[in-house]
Amino acid sequence: MNNVFGQRRVYYNNFAEHLLNAYNPNMTHAGLPYCWSDRDWTALIEMLEAFGYNVFQYWLTPRLFCREGVTGEFGRKFTRQINFITEQAHRHNLKVEFLCSLSTVGSDWHTLCPGIPSEWEECRYLWREWLSRLPGTDIVGIFPGDPGACSRHGCTALTFIDRANEIAALVKQHLPHAQIDLGTWGPPIFGWGIIQGPEGWKGEFVQAYQHTAWQFDKKRADETMVHLLKRLPDFPSDTIVSINLGFNPDGIPNGDQDARPWARQIAAANPIQTWDFSLTEGENAILPHYRFQRLFEQRRRERDAAPYSGGICYTMTPKLNQLSLYEAAQSFIRPDDDYNEIAREFYRQVFGPGTEELVEHLPLFEIIKDWGNHLTIDLSREDFHRRMNRLSELLRGLENRLASTIPFFPTPETYRQELLFFAEMFAMLSGPAPDYDQLARQYWQRVYAIYDQLPAHVDPRPQQAVRKIIDFFRTWKGAALPQDQGPANGQWV
Ligand SMILES: [Zn+2]
Repeated sequence: MNNVFGQRRVYYNNFAEHLLNAYNPNMTHAGLPYCWSDRDWTALIEMLEAFGYNVFQYWLTPRLFCREGVTGEFGRKFTRQINFITEQAHRHNLKVEFLCSLSTVGSDWHTLCPGIPSEWEECRYLWREWLSRLPGTDIVGIFPGDPGACSRHGCTALTFIDRANEIAALVKQHLPHAQIDLGTWGPPIFGWGIIQGPEGWKGEFVQAYQHTAWQFDKKRADETMVHLLKRLPDFPSDTIVSINLGFNPDGIPNGDQDARPWARQIAAANPIQTWDFSLTEGENAILPHYRFQRLFEQRRRERDAAPYSGGICYTMTPKLNQLSLYEAAQSFIRPDDDYNEIAREFYRQVFGPGTEELVEHLPLFEIIKDWGNHLTIDLSREDFHRRMNRLSELLRGLENRLASTIPFFPTPETYRQELLFFAEMFAMLSGPAPDYDQLARQYWQRVYAIYDQLPAHVDPRPQQAVRKIIDFFRTWKGAALPQDQGPANGQWV
């Protein structure tokens, strides 16, 4: 029985360098804001256990997966911290998984080519180094990219599978007890053989070409999955395959992009899980999320499909979206339950009884259409403004209620203050004559201040995410909602 539905409930915290914010741990820039103490991490893990998680997953980001990461002080600090987290996770019945792109290295997200012997040797070196530094790891995820993928020197999705097999053997040499998680993220296998670059391209990350990594082609998808099924017996027998319901960024199983027939074939021999990034938060607007209708619907589809043994519950804001984390874990445990009732139950546990009305207003934050947000909210600007004021009032009334009956990180009171910040911010933004530029600065200061102390990153996502929120309110007049602003940065289609 490889696949008992929902048994693998994976907290996936992406704290990569382009997703830094006040609600995410800063793991690689000591001395700058948002670093967490050992005590913070212990409290987070206690909360995760109470919420129902049994795997802690993180991305060994390209900033770490490079020579500088191996030799630098920040790499040493990271290693100490993550080994401490691993110890705590084990104490609380969570396994630990690190994900790593097969060959994407460095702060500039450069992808090395497995077809060039010296570059592949460098990849193997980096894998060996990190495997030896993280001895407590239970699961090693080998990941095609995003960012990063190779189409130089004849590399294809098949190359990724074959080279991942080599790395799986390396993992077994260093960590014989560890399980492999083979990622198929993308259309499938993000970018391999299809990502394009400018004239003379040598694998650098070039944002203008990222969308080419998502080009879907049925023939390519079929060949890739046939090859994966053929090679899978060459991987350790308990290898997990991460495969979403659909070969697109939101995991939608429509038409030729329906991945379920392949998932079923894989599930006959191996554990499968989803790696659906879009369900809880997407990767762009930072606000309190409430996307649970689709989350629960997708869970039931996963159960019906194969079934899936579990999947990731993604976050880049664990200090803000505790409700999403709770709902996501519970969606694997009780997929037929009412998500609104689960939310009310959550607030009863965190803030005490009489807090149910919060749940009526929280979905309104999902007014910003971006990655994974399929919610439609139909309100006039005036009604929206009124509801945000009401939510602010409710939250002010909960000051120091402090009755949490469930382990909670950081504290119910900090959480209340953050929700209040967002409610007041959205109330001001939807007010009669907002000072948009001033509010944009205020939002930036609260959420993204760390970037004022860092050199510009290759991915300008934080700036774009703020602009998108502000522009939404700037263009929202009266009853009509602004037209869908198109795919968000990060959703490459
Ligand atoms: Zn290549």
